[in-house]
Amino acid sequence: MSPKFKPEIAIIGGGIAGLGLAIALHAQDFPCTVYEQAPEKGRFSGAIMLAPNSLQILDTLGIYERIKSKGWSFEAVAMKDMEGKTTDRIFLGSKRLFKYDALRIYRNVFVKELQAICHERGINVKYETKYSHIVEERDNGVTFALADGTEINCDVLIASDGIHSKVRQHVYPDIAPQYNGILVVCGAVKRDLLNVGPDDEMDCPVMYPGKNGAFVMAPQNNDGSEYKAGTQRKFEAQTREGWDKLAKDPKFLHGFLEEGIEDRQPIVQSAIRGIDTDSIYIWAFHTLPKLPKWSSEKGRIIILGDAAHAIPPTTGQGANQALEDVYSFAVLMARKSESTTVAEAVDWWQSMRQERVDKLLELTSKLNNLRMPVEEQKKLEAGEIFQVEDGGSGEQWRWLFRPELEKRIDEWCKEHDKQ
Ligand SMILES: Cc1cc2nc3c(=O)[nH]c(=O)nc-3n(C[C@H](O)[C@H](O)[C@H](O)COP(=O)(O)OP(=O)(O)OC[C@H]3O[C@@H](n4cnc5c(N)ncnc54)[C@H](O)[C@@H]3O)c2cc1C
Repeated sequence: MSPKFKPEIAIIGGGIAGLGLAIALHAQDFPCTVYEQAPEKGRFSGAIMLAPNSLQILDTLGIYERIKSKGWSFEAVAMKDMEGKTTDRIFLGSKRLFKYDALRIYRNVFVKELQAICHERGINVKYETKYSHIVEERDNGVTFALADGTEINCDVLIASDGIHSKVRQHVYPDIAPQYNGILVVCGAVKRDLLNVGPDDEMDCPVMYPGKNGAFVMAPQNNDGSEYKAGTQRKFEAQTREGWDKLAKDPKFLHGFLEEGIEDRQPIVQSAIRGIDTDSIYIWAFHTLPKLPKWSSEKGRIIILGDAAHAIPPTTGQGANQALEDVYSFAVLMARKSESTTVAEAVDWWQSMRQERVDKLLELTSKLNNLRMPVEEQKKLEAGEIFQVEDGGSGEQWRWLFRPELEKRIDEWCKEHDKQ
């Protein structure tokens, strides 16, 4: 895939990774087609947080300017003690330190903008087109089938079809996402309904500890009139049908949120009572066992985004890491020399990406423990719970928010060419 070799690239899945990849490849002059099973409109609920590591990428691709006024920008999460006093701040962005504040934005709004950009830039996205299976993978290409029976040939097939990826199942039939025992229930509440006390901070996300798990609130629209509000704790595993049933059961959803409400802070009590039932969703945390390779044996199928490494949401990095994957992949393919094979480049790319994902999984586990019920935290070693280590300066986040991907790619290309 040197600039002279212009492969036909098929991208399965038009979520954040798939559309982001299409835009990043297009910027490097690689043609591609995205196959997305869902219709163009209205697929996602809730908001996501975009951090400086992905905002830098979105800026380079001409996307950031279009979305920044559509979300809520902020620096850090304020961490409260049981009395409601702020004890620490966990940085999720900072214009001063990392060039960008974090941005909370509705997934729908973000994906809609990515779709519009694809349309404007002439990128081919085929909606309501479902991948079914791989017909054949050859040394020089792949044939795959859609659910309607159509067979399509491409030089390279990229799987960005999410955590339950069907393409990954072809490459790794025995690897499946694993529930890690934690369930989040959250929904939207109008700011006007919150019982705001003098110590409550309303200009940033805020986390209140609790006997039944921490409660998090975060503005999620551009004027801060609506907050995401919810909690997480251990919960027994369910089948996929079981999760679907619970997600639609208002009694269960409100019951989960309301457990131990009497011991919660007044603002949290008001949030729980004010949450709009229709907005409530659940998120059972799943992680994916480490894939030996993010590509198939013959190297013509490549896996990225949630399909390669689902990260639980506590660090808010799933979409951010998916965007790092796609941008670094496109840049590497464009900058590698002709003498470097795609397989060599993909192997290095995977190791570079996996290193960051591993570090994040460790951080996520510590942050999850910070959100556990107070009594459960007492059973853990100090090192298992996240701690602010830099005196609150935010510097401990630099590795995450300023990854300098292009610098690393250029260094590798230079080194590799010398060998
Ligand atoms: C409630 C919630 C809140 C989140 N909050 C954050 C956050 O704050 N910050 C953050 O960084 N991340 C967050 N995430 C995680 C983030 O959304 C994911 O990590 C990210 O969307 C991964 O992108 P993806 O494109 O790899 O997968 P997905 O977004 O899952 O997209 C996969 C796409 O593939 C399509 N697809 C699947 N199968 C097929 C098929 N057979 N044929 C064709 N198309 C197919 C799907 O329809 C979908 O559009 C959140 C996730 C959820 C659910």
